[in-house]
Amino acid sequence: MDANIHLKPPIKETSPRSVSVMKKHETQSQCAHRLRVVSELGNNRGKPDDYPLTDDEFECLTNLNLIENYNYFLLNPKHSNHLPGSVLGTCTTVAAQLLVGYHNYYSDRRIIPETSGNISFLAEDYGNINYNPTIEREPVANQGCEKIGTLDAFFNKLIDLNSNINNPINSGQDMPSVVNSVKAFFDNYSEPTIRDNLNISTELYNEAEVNFELNNNRPVVLGYGSLIPFDFHVFIAYGKAELDGVTGYLVHYGWGASSTRYFAKESAIAFQMRMSVGTPQTFTETGNVVADIYREQKCNTTGVSKLAPLFSTTPISGGQSISLANGNILLKQGTSLNIPSSLNGGNVVKLANEAFKDQARLVEINIPSTVISVGTNALFNTGGAIINLIDRNSAPQTFSYNWNPSNNPVKLNGVTCNHTNQTLVSLNDTKHGMQCPTCKTTTNIENHNHTYTWRSKTRHRATCACGRNVLEGHFVSSSNPSTCMLCGGPADTGFIGPFGDASSPLWNTNYVVEYFSNGSYLLSNGVYVISDADLDAFNSGTLDIPKNNEEIYNYCC
Ligand SMILES: [Zn+2]
Ligand SMILES: [Zn+2]
Ligand SMILES: [Zn+2]
Repeated sequence: MDANIHLKPPIKETSPRSVSVMKKHETQSQCAHRLRVVSELGNNRGKPDDYPLTDDEFECLTNLNLIENYNYFLLNPKHSNHLPGSVLGTCTTVAAQLLVGYHNYYSDRRIIPETSGNISFLAEDYGNINYNPTIEREPVANQGCEKIGTLDAFFNKLIDLNSNINNPINSGQDMPSVVNSVKAFFDNYSEPTIRDNLNISTELYNEAEVNFELNNNRPVVLGYGSLIPFDFHVFIAYGKAELDGVTGYLVHYGWGASSTRYFAKESAIAFQMRMSVGTPQTFTETGNVVADIYREQKCNTTGVSKLAPLFSTTPISGGQSISLANGNILLKQGTSLNIPSSLNGGNVVKLANEAFKDQARLVEINIPSTVISVGTNALFNTGGAIINLIDRNSAPQTFSYNWNPSNNPVKLNGVTCNHTNQTLVSLNDTKHGMQCPTCKTTTNIENHNHTYTWRSKTRHRATCACGRNVLEGHFVSSSNPSTCMLCGGPADTGFIGPFGDASSPLWNTNYVVEYFSNGSYLLSNGVYVISDADLDAFNSGTLDIPKNNEEIYNYCC
């Protein structure tokens, strides 16, 4: 290529000419119509090869391929202006500033030092994770966000370091001299170990090479080759697409806050500038939550932070069941967990089993009213964090008694529930506990303490202080099948078979309706026969006993 591709100075920047805005329902052919119209009109600089995209036009693109972190460019990170109204053509240095700035953000934070002497190249809170461009944000006005970009001093240093005597005075800039500026910056300001991992080059445009860069999530600086006045321009591409069969790049145009999303036709591209950083990165979890739904991961070598989803969801009936995206992370001390009311296309209706178990550093868990169920141990051992049930005066009936297993404080509409009127209630066939009627937090969960009253040869009545009061079958052991182990009264087990072995299926076969555990069974008259192997479990209250069905229940009494 010609080593001196001097770029013509830009004309003064003016407001973009208004174009008719696409409606969402318009078709691709209507998109094509709009494309031709814009082509004929040209953009605000009278150039037919590129123009800014509206949101609706963006939706007309096909075969869209964007680099992962393209929001960096939409957010219009701090870059020096293309000096509108000036005779200086500095677009190549603007594009190089964005290219190096991007890599300093996503590839290796050590490329550009924060300061050198009394020069500040980066904002004091550069890289502040709360300004991560991954978070969808509106493009900011003027020169972009200093928190993620570079300061003008970096741009000015690239100009200073340019060795081309014609650059940047009047005649514009050429890519090779700007690349040399960047290399000179690395030589002067980057550590040798970092510099050795950097590669920056410029060549004639090569579509395959640009595709390779974009597919590897690296932006590319592109330049027009036409010698027609005002048709020179250099910008940085972060994606590629087609519009009615016309191939072009999605580019940050370098002209200010309104120029972060241009469509530039590929047919006019003649030159390219590429940059890559070879420093290996190993990301670890920091435990930081960002913007409620992201978590921070950081490389200790390069200083690069990136965001990953905080939550994962599983579709269930009525919406989504939510949990931490990675159960092995430990969120940092003082974290407030805000469960979103909707995520991944559905209302969040459940906290999954063990979803936030052992997140012992939480101080607050905010649960929206879309959540109607809480899975087993979802909030177990969460450090006594305050649980806010938002927009609720009481826990919904759909919450199970053990939704708050660690007895965290509960707030309803911001008011702490003091569990007044906590009462002993039956929770199920085997357990009762002290339950708050308002928030359903339940403590002192124990097995029922039954009193048994013999009623017939097949039934006794079981009552408990919790209010449980049921008729149930006697429980006999296979070695003493005629006396109930609970009420002590006589029990009817029907015909005793010849083997005297309760675990034998030949024994009382005709009367058995269900076998359970290790050879125990339920007879058709409602009496349970507990095998020797199950006796210990039965006596300790841990034996899982099948329920009498309604028919058996009504057999007697
Ligand atoms: Zn309560
Ligand atoms: Zn009870
Ligand atoms: Zn009994």
